[in-house]
Amino acid sequence: ATPSAVNPPLLIGDILKSGVRMAGDNPIVYRDLSRHSYSEFQARVHQLAHLLTRQGVQAGDVVAVLDWDSHRYLECFFAIPMIGAVLHTVNVRLAPEQILYTMDHAEDVFVLSHQEFLPLLEPLAEKLPHIKGYLLCQDTPEEVKTSLPLVGEYESLLAEQPQHYDFPTFDENAVATLFYTTGTTGNPKGVFFTHRQLVLHTLGEANILQAPGFDLLSRDKVYMPITPMFHVHAWGIPYTATLMGCTQVYPGRYEPEMLVKLLVKEKVDFSHCVPTLLNMVVAAEAISSGKVKLEGWKVLVGGSALPQGLAKKAWGLGIDTRTAYGMSETCPLLTAAVLPKDINDADFDTQLPWRCKTGVAVPFVDLQVVDESGQPLPQDGESVGEVRVRAPWLTQAYYKEEARSEELWQDGWLHTGDVATIDDRGFLQIRDRIKDVIKTGGEWLSSLELENLISQFPGIAEVAVVGVADAQWGERPAALVVATDPSNPPETPAIQAHLQKFVDQGKINKWAIPEKILLVDEIPKTSVGKLNKKVIRQELA
Ligand code: ADP
Repeated sequence: ATPSAVNPPLLIGDILKSGVRMAGDNPIVYRDLSRHSYSEFQARVHQLAHLLTRQGVQAGDVVAVLDWDSHRYLECFFAIPMIGAVLHTVNVRLAPEQILYTMDHAEDVFVLSHQEFLPLLEPLAEKLPHIKGYLLCQDTPEEVKTSLPLVGEYESLLAEQPQHYDFPTFDENAVATLFYTTGTTGNPKGVFFTHRQLVLHTLGEANILQAPGFDLLSRDKVYMPITPMFHVHAWGIPYTATLMGCTQVYPGRYEPEMLVKLLVKEKVDFSHCVPTLLNMVVAAEAISSGKVKLEGWKVLVGGSALPQGLAKKAWGLGIDTRTAYGMSETCPLLTAAVLPKDINDADFDTQLPWRCKTGVAVPFVDLQVVDESGQPLPQDGESVGEVRVRAPWLTQAYYKEEARSEELWQDGWLHTGDVATIDDRGFLQIRDRIKDVIKTGGEWLSSLELENLISQFPGIAEVAVVGVADAQWGERPAALVVATDPSNPPETPAIQAHLQKFVDQGKINKWAIPEKILLVDEIPKTSVGKLNKKVIRQELA
């Protein structure tokens, strides 16, 4: 027998085959616009492979996708890597010059674009000479005028293709996906993942999503992402949901009304998002007024710390939140807050702080918290150091960026740039990003911890804490707060008194109480909806 028969390569195509076997009839839903069974989804992936091949796309080529979350995007998650090409998920929320940078740097040769992004692409096209063609994606058939060399429209070209494609078998170490981190400093950085890495990540994630207490996803559940598919492949969860054969619901562009409509109509069991998005759903009129109930909806929150105030508010509405941690460079899954059995058996108030911690390392992730000399720190829940990791699914480098790659990978470990503690039960608690830690009068303050405490004060919808330069103390914390009810905002002295209670309990020291607490209408966010601390610092300075 050949080596590949005895030791078959781990390829993304097998994830799709598994879903079809598990639940050929389960649907893939796109807004209120389309539904396809898994069997049809599979046929469409084969048709897309034919379409791309006929357009001259070959193994090793990079294919860019600009779309909101859709069934089409899911088809691209499979068809592009399955022909041996590389899927570049373009972050459509970046500034046009950054999008240009990423598409040029990735050397994209073919583009699938939603109609909405044509005006964005038109002025960039002459600076992207390696692109051979653009395929139009539309929600409703209508004529479009564009200067781009369109090769046709997705649905009509797909319909012309045969429903069976003879997919090749190849080395599992072939690159499958490529995308760029939002890059708070300098140009965006490309990270990339192989078939083998994505298959292993999918298996690890499947294991966690079914963990005791989590019970987030399995075949008979309904899944809807609210983390964009361009952001770390929606945490890889579309691959995991496909492996299991779950019903999948794609909401397109995130509009609160459509999200709520789909959650109710499709009876969504499980979603994942950054805390700000959960906040947006919780604050949606239909939900906060109690007109629409989301009882039993489970949400995995990651990308930023989940404040206890938000988790509690969600729980009051019947929404069950859990935490996971990771980053673009790590595919992303590193830890998940699967609770120890005794805590899992306890009541919600006992669980709350644990649900909001960063969690335990998932299978195959080797994670350490180390001091400046790289020595692992004691697991005492107090010693603070940098998180470094090894796992079978970390980006091997930043794409075509040697110097930055050396900084990422030092001494054989991937350095996360996060500082954390780890306790005697192996629970990690991210304290801050190294660059966001506030240094005041020789003390280190965790901006995340302060946000967590402030979030628990009634009437606060959202909060961000950053360090601002101070002649006497080096830095002082400053907080931006959004009121739940702008006509009756919380007062600064009341928030300070709330924090004083935690000083009295010895939880924080008195230097942590900000003098400056500013009421704002909105807090600046990054392209993926996280608190944009760089911009907040600039504005406060
Ligand atoms: P960006 O840096 O552009 O936001 P990522 O999405 O890769 O890109 O962000 C990863 C970072 O997000 C992590 O390094 C960490 O600082 C933060 N993060 C992710 N999940 C959590 C979490 N559960 N708790 C606290 N911070 C988190």
